[in-house]
Amino acid sequence: MLAPSYQKLKDILSKSIDAKRILTNHLQTLAYGTDASFYRLIPQIVILAHNETEVVEIIKQAKILDIALTFRAAGTSLSGQAISDSVLVVATHGWKNFELLENNQKIKLEPGIVGSRANTYLAPHGLKIGPDPASIGAAMIGGIVANNASGMCCGTAQNSYQTIADIRMVLSDGTILDTADSNSVAAFKNNQKALIEEIESLRDTIKNDKTLYHFIKNKFKIKNTTGYSINALVDYQDPIEIIKHLMVGSEGTLAFISNVTFKTVVDEKHKSCSLIIFNTIQDACNAAILLKSSPVAAVELLDRESIRSVENDAEAPDYFKTLPESACALLVECRDNDYTVLHQKQEQIRLEMASIPTFSDYHFTSDPKQYYFNWKARKGLLPTVGGLRKNGTSVIIEDVAFPLPQLAEACLAMKELFRKHDYQDAVMFGHALEGNLHLVFSQDFSSQNEVDRYEKLMSELAILVVDRFDGSLKAEHGTGRNMAPFVEKEWGTKAYEIMKRIKNIFDPHNKINPDVLINPDPKAHLKNLKPMPESHEIVDKCMECGFCEPHCVSEGLTLSPRQRIVIAREISRLEESNNDPILLAEIRKNVTYQLDETCATDGLCALACPVNIDTGKFVKTWRANELNTGDKKTAAYIGSHMAGTTAFLRVVLKTVSFFHSIFGTTIMTALSNGFHFISFGKVPKWIPEMPKGADKINLKN
Ligand SMILES: Cc1cc2nc3c(=O)[nH]c(=O)nc-3n(C[C@H](O)[C@H](O)[C@H](O)COP(=O)(O)OP(=O)(O)OC[C@H]3O[C@@H](n4cnc5c(N)ncnc54)[C@H](O)[C@@H]3O)c2cc1C
Ligand code: SF4
Repeated sequence: MLAPSYQKLKDILSKSIDAKRILTNHLQTLAYGTDASFYRLIPQIVILAHNETEVVEIIKQAKILDIALTFRAAGTSLSGQAISDSVLVVATHGWKNFELLENNQKIKLEPGIVGSRANTYLAPHGLKIGPDPASIGAAMIGGIVANNASGMCCGTAQNSYQTIADIRMVLSDGTILDTADSNSVAAFKNNQKALIEEIESLRDTIKNDKTLYHFIKNKFKIKNTTGYSINALVDYQDPIEIIKHLMVGSEGTLAFISNVTFKTVVDEKHKSCSLIIFNTIQDACNAAILLKSSPVAAVELLDRESIRSVENDAEAPDYFKTLPESACALLVECRDNDYTVLHQKQEQIRLEMASIPTFSDYHFTSDPKQYYFNWKARKGLLPTVGGLRKNGTSVIIEDVAFPLPQLAEACLAMKELFRKHDYQDAVMFGHALEGNLHLVFSQDFSSQNEVDRYEKLMSELAILVVDRFDGSLKAEHGTGRNMAPFVEKEWGTKAYEIMKRIKNIFDPHNKINPDVLINPDPKAHLKNLKPMPESHEIVDKCMECGFCEPHCVSEGLTLSPRQRIVIAREISRLEESNNDPILLAEIRKNVTYQLDETCATDGLCALACPVNIDTGKFVKTWRANELNTGDKKTAAYIGSHMAGTTAFLRVVLKTVSFFHSIFGTTIMTALSNGFHFISFGKVPKWIPEMPKGADKINLKN
């Protein structure tokens, strides 16, 4: 039962939005409500919005009813910023338009376009979009911009903040600003004078405070997605430019993004890489410092545990197993459109690094097999931990950044911290040039002891990153609920106050994705933790990352593979706990069509799954189990006794045909109708077209 205000919102919106796209049943709200983070909130209503007019109406009506909204793209966020216990507005289907502009130098994209799809539009022109998160095959433009997501190559030079040209947005009062449209900008400046003045005042406050000004400039020299992109206030003078850049990394807390225009970047055709092994982390990090000014496209650090986790891969070189414990690798990528220049770059890299000893000689390769293995080793690190973890645990990806000169010391300190708290399976890797490290480990949240252990780790991590190294607590993945309690710690009171003012300027009633990014609760990161009950061995390793969704043919009609797994887990949880039979019954009522009948079971989802889950296979086992219940038992029996059933039917059909030849069609029809009548329809009617029983096929012939 919806609370009255939500019911009212649903009733009002049903007049302008197809009611089939306003979801309130528990199965669908849970399924759509889930993202890749280890937090769980279940929305009251999920609205599948198809265009900007609908979004404006949703925003206006929710404002009147004082209801909070959260916007959603692909739901691959890791920090808990894409979930809601109020209204979730999903802007994916219906948001797929794009336009190439200015001789392909720019591309305008709607928020529901998957990042890699945007790149396929640009590939024929040798171009791509700047931001390159590892999740680009599933993450969508709305989320990529709102999280200021970045990856291995884009660094801080080609992320959304640097490559955004224009943006169209809907503010919390329904106002539309399109920075590409001079009329829209003029109207905005005219109608939103107070907002513009506030932005200018913030800009001037910072510019007049030299310490704060330089502090902000400095912090964004490395990757940083903790809090808002307040570098916009120091990098730009024009308030419209400031607003445009503040939207990047705002995690859906300031406005809805209707489209974004990116400046495109060159996608070099020739690529080569080298997996360079160093004797120590210090050597690897010193090399990274030297490589910062050399012509590299990416420099990825892999610690010893990372290398160990891929040493059993059939293509892994034997020496992986015998490397010293102190070893560390850098995967160095080099690209160019010109093959000769590519080789020159490789030589230059070699010269730059000449002063640092390596464990063994190294060479750059463009050989597809070797090139692929090197990157597979790097990209396979998350799935390796994900696949090996104990069932019932979550995969956590910490995402911190340090000033490059201190990277080595920070790596060792982080390793020590994880050892201290007994995170045995942690692997560490990251984008070395940005000082950005990811620590991937499994975490059980099912007992208070484990939650306490995580709490201790997080508070000590915050001290280490901020107090000791002046680093970023979130480099790429956004603040979300996970780092919201630590934003003030990282930024200090003055900068945090500025962030609070930004939130207040755009969302004075705190109704646009509340509790994300700015959250006064010091324990927000320990609340609403997602249960991960065991359900079935085929799907128990699922990380709920959502990478399978773009490959699923029923996503959007009913459920995606991730959503099917979420529902299966919820059924297991409810059956196990037995404390909410009504909810269980409600889910079970809808599950057959949503989970089972509409799954194509083609296994395409497995192609994109980092832990190789074939949800189609799981659905087939689900079907088999379902057949063993209730009135489907007969069908299940027949299914498993096909030979006997066909033999029996052959005899029956031959007998019926024999009687037909004796009685003739008229008497046979009358007899059949009579039997059908007295058996209350249980004996089927005979018709002249009914076939004779066939002879048994002799398979030996
Ligand atoms: C396995 C894995 C690997 C990852 N690797 C990386 C990586 O290398 N680098 C990286 O940066 N991130 C990475 N991520 C995190 C995540 O994929 C990215 O942050 C991604 O950009 C999120 O996009 P999304 O479409 O899933 O957005 P969502 O998760 O749906 O939303 C993200 C945020 O954007 C807001 N939002 C969405 N649409 C709109 C809109 N139209 N208007 C306003 N706000 C909106 C949401 O409210 C939310 O706060 C990874 C995630 C996973 C699961
Ligand atoms: S099935 Fe695989 S790809 Fe899909 S959500 Fe689970 S882990 Fe991710």
